[in-house]
Amino acid sequence: MKTPLRCWAEVDLDALRSNLAWIRHRVGPQVKILTVVKADAYGHGLKQIAALLMQSGTDVFGVANLTEAHTIRSVGRGWPILMLGACLPDEVEVAVRDEVRPTISSLGEAKAFSEAAVRLGKNVPVHVKVDTGMGRLGVFAENAIDLLQSIQSLPGLALEGLYTHYASAEDDSLFSREQTQRFREVLVACESADIHIPLVHASNSAALLHKADSTFNLVRPGLLVYGELPQGKRTDATMLQKFFRPALSLKCRVSLVKSISKGDSLSYGRTFVAYENMRVATLTAGYGDGYPRSGSNKAEVLVNGQRCRVLGRITMDQTMVDVSHLAQVSPGDEAVLIGNQGEGTITASELAGWCGTIPWEVMTAITHRVPRIYRGSQAA
Ligand SMILES: *Cc1c(COP(=O)(O)O)cnc(C)c1O
Repeated sequence: MKTPLRCWAEVDLDALRSNLAWIRHRVGPQVKILTVVKADAYGHGLKQIAALLMQSGTDVFGVANLTEAHTIRSVGRGWPILMLGACLPDEVEVAVRDEVRPTISSLGEAKAFSEAAVRLGKNVPVHVKVDTGMGRLGVFAENAIDLLQSIQSLPGLALEGLYTHYASAEDDSLFSREQTQRFREVLVACESADIHIPLVHASNSAALLHKADSTFNLVRPGLLVYGELPQGKRTDATMLQKFFRPALSLKCRVSLVKSISKGDSLSYGRTFVAYENMRVATLTAGYGDGYPRSGSNKAEVLVNGQRCRVLGRITMDQTMVDVSHLAQVSPGDEAVLIGNQGEGTITASELAGWCGTIPWEVMTAITHRVPRIYRGSQAA
């Protein structure tokens, strides 16, 4: 007999494929799509998602470490992989050996890659990052040409890409415009200096929705691929945003239903005290599954298609919810923490809102013990 699941994530591969198709529709056939699959493909499971994206027309993968690159290669070879972070000094040789494209911000990094390339008899395509206002990686715009010229003169390196990253594309159109402007100045300077770089890129998901002027010839969506929208203060997004469908659902079960009396308290710290007689369902998921404890007394779940509020502290493996208003609820019933049930929908962004965080964190916080179940025509 199969062991029943207590908490699981369902991934709709058809939604993912459709989201990628809408991104393709947005940018056209000439622009390359780098799908960002860091952090286990935003919690969706890297192997399955990499396979699906390979079949659905991704051009390049973006990763956060070399293990992720290795996993992608174990699924399929032939796709370029860009390391989005800076390589540690002791990662340089591994990156060169494994043919992972590095992101370069400094002459020091460029020299280390050049030496490793020569040592291993390789030619390394590199992407140089320009810091136009994110402040995390990249060379400042005014020093970019010097760095690019040095790279051109170093053996073993090929300038393949030039890119930047927006700090606030979903919130701040003015600052984003300044970032674009700084980046464009570098591109103009490249032209004057006769430096030709095949791939130029800037757009994350938010810029894809809000900044048609930063498509260049490659885009780097993450969140949108998974069907969640980067929500912010800006309301000028393309109409396209309504076509994206979340791929991920997070589900668990009702394990017990009980009645409590006015004045009874619930869970650790006794942060909830019943203001009337109530019916409470205990659910089989908690922060040990990645259901954020910060949603205590705030988050809502779906049971029998209806919204039910979390009562008291979310614990490691179990969570209590108010089911007083439900006509029927029994042990074994499915409860939806993220996703659809009946007429109801709870998105990762909505859950993130209750928890004071962002959908990126909600998705990547789902823990290892939660099995990922794949649905859709490509599910193996
Ligand atoms: C994570 C990341 C992205 C994707 O960001 P989303 O907001 O999820 O689309 C794009 N570019 C870089 C450099 C990143 O680190």
